Amino acid sequence: MKTSVIGFPRIGRNRELKFASEKYFSGKISEAELQETARMQREFNLTTQKHAGIDLISSNDFSFYDNVLDTAFLFNVVPARYKDLGLSTLDTYFAAARGYQGDKGNVKALAMKKWFNTNYHYIVPEIDDDTNIELVGTKPIDEYLEAKNLGVETKVLLIGPFTFLKLARFTGSKTAEDFAETLTSAYITLLGKLASEGAKNIQLDEPYLVRDLNEKDITLFESIYTQILAAKGDLKILLQTYFGDIRDIYEKVISLPFDAIGIDFVEGRKSLELVKTYGFPKGKLLLAGLVNGKNIWRNNYAETNKKIAELQNVVSDEDFVLSTSCSLLHVPYTLASETKLPENYKAHFAFAEEKLTELKEIASQSQDALEKNTVLFKNRPDVFDTKVQDRVASIKESDYTRLPAFEEREKIQKELLQLPLFPTTTIGSFPQTDDVRKNRKDFKTGAITEEQYVAFNENKIRACIENQEEIGLDVLVHGEFERNDMVEYFGEHLSGYVFTEKAWVLSYGTRCVKPPIIWGDVSRQEAITVKWSVFAQSCTKKPVKGMLTGPVTILNWSFPREDISLQESTLQIALAIRDEVLDLEKNGIGIIQIDEAALREKLPLRKSDWYSEYLDWAIPAFRLVHSGVSPKTQIHTHMCYSEFTDIIPAIDSMDADVITFEASRSDLLILDALKENHFKTEVGPGVYDIHSPRVPSVDELVGQLTKIRAKTEDSKLWVNPDCGLKTRGETETNASLRNLVTAAKIIREA
Ligand code: GLN
Ligand code: ZN
Repeated sequence: MKTSVIGFPRIGRNRELKFASEKYFSGKISEAELQETARMQREFNLTTQKHAGIDLISSNDFSFYDNVLDTAFLFNVVPARYKDLGLSTLDTYFAAARGYQGDKGNVKALAMKKWFNTNYHYIVPEIDDDTNIELVGTKPIDEYLEAKNLGVETKVLLIGPFTFLKLARFTGSKTAEDFAETLTSAYITLLGKLASEGAKNIQLDEPYLVRDLNEKDITLFESIYTQILAAKGDLKILLQTYFGDIRDIYEKVISLPFDAIGIDFVEGRKSLELVKTYGFPKGKLLLAGLVNGKNIWRNNYAETNKKIAELQNVVSDEDFVLSTSCSLLHVPYTLASETKLPENYKAHFAFAEEKLTELKEIASQSQDALEKNTVLFKNRPDVFDTKVQDRVASIKESDYTRLPAFEEREKIQKELLQLPLFPTTTIGSFPQTDDVRKNRKDFKTGAITEEQYVAFNENKIRACIENQEEIGLDVLVHGEFERNDMVEYFGEHLSGYVFTEKAWVLSYGTRCVKPPIIWGDVSRQEAITVKWSVFAQSCTKKPVKGMLTGPVTILNWSFPREDISLQESTLQIALAIRDEVLDLEKNGIGIIQIDEAALREKLPLRKSDWYSEYLDWAIPAFRLVHSGVSPKTQIHTHMCYSEFTDIIPAIDSMDADVITFEASRSDLLILDALKENHFKTEVGPGVYDIHSPRVPSVDELVGQLTKIRAKTEDSKLWVNPDCGLKTRGETETNASLRNLVTAAKIIREA
């Protein structure tokens, strides 16, 4: 059996690319030095896969920031405002990715969105009526040749034209259909160049095919690919899909002259059924995605072999290729970097490099490997806790409802809190400066005592409160100096979790997250955040928001178990966080924010599954967390990336009192939707983008607030940045917040 890997992580085993990029951003290294780090990473990836014996390896899976943005730059889909800065190509690219503020100008970054149902974020290409699509770059060719020089004949990964158009934002009157022709011919030009450089195999990634598709989509796809396939010459074209099944277009896809088709049998619930029902054409390769590219658990060989056997009833041996289910970008590099996990735990995991071994072991049908694997699935230590299971089993229907209803609570809280119109606040974290990180690290390694650790954090909290008072914010936060990460921190204080040292996964740009692993039944042993919030509240007369992460986000940003349902795990976590909410309330914290930054993450890609498979349990799980508090306690929630225009009723039924969310990068489109849906919850649409270091001016913020006011009720409007400030520097943060408070005052007076 041959093996294929869709894509490999690029940030580096030790995040080498991240650190080099960040040094480049701050002017500490040259472009040549950055390029050299990048080259070394690519070489490492290629040789690792080659040594593992993988047959089909991708090139051009590398990116400095994002592959969709690379595709935009490759085809000249670059808004004039970035080109006009007159920067080098690489810096223009980074300006579009991160925004630019300097002597050449002042521009915001392009919008960023979640890559399907992952925690990776892509940059949204922006196409206006004058965009002149043509091939202007050489990245895929360069990286193909580079690999070839290293002795690796790769398949060249390209984001497919259909997915590219479907993900792009059209700012003028033209639509995807209007650009299909020129984009297709630009791809054809690229394929021609690749062929003349000796490339043989092209992998066109079309994950958009796993979404609900309508007639128009299918026509668009067909017209693009009929042309590409007619012009492909000797190139072999692999259509690669992932993150689900392609039920709306499977028959069409198998009827087109692709040379190979990649299908996800892990997340694609209907994939097997599709292949069995409609067959698979002889002479084409089926790349069967059977090794999960998203989770970190060992593959169950016996189960996989069953699926392989079923597929081989339809597909002949020589046409069958064993593949990852999606790019390995979504898992960490290697267990070899984990020095602290006990071996009997480690044995149950497979990261990217170990997945290569799994591919080979399954492909070789080694009896020995199968036996070892079977034993593994019978022995997982320390998993079950009957107390937790009983508590979940005894949740009552009424536990999911907070009383009294929102309107009544709103009155009580306005009366009690006496906040000004347009109250100002932040999302929770303040800049995580080096000393803050060092304090945590020193405590972890035992270099300082707990007393020293706490004293440092208390000083930080006090200073942070003083700073917020001085800036003039209305609802304060303690600053989250004790947290490395909003999920890992809670995981560390809950039983049932295990942690890694270097299991980083790319989230956006150079930002990585290190998701903790839900190993067994989850429960809270003691109060987690209460002491910090109580201390912060003791430093001020203004209200301090308690700051928690919600159960759905904790689940979605952890590697979940595969032996119980997501719902079951989420309810366990919800009960633990509920205890924390009640403890905060009991200790005098009157406003509590429960972040659900990642609520949307596991939303099924098909609309038809949204409620029945996800929201119907995820939203009640959130309500379970806060249904026990008094009407006087104000519950906030926060969501990143305001992509919830289409689930507004669900968001409203989380029944929080206030919700803050990202809006600054998305042109406030969501506000129209809130209005149409008579959204009851008070709202704080983020007025500036914290993912970029630029400082918004007072004028800009007043402008933004004026636009927001036109679409929301004054009495429901909060003023805040669009996310936590932990990744920002102190100077830009203070300047931005000062401007924010000034802008709110101007609007109040007006
Ligand atoms: N409270 C968190 C913070 O401010 C929220 C972060 C997030 O939404 N990603 O850091
Ligand atoms: Zn956020």
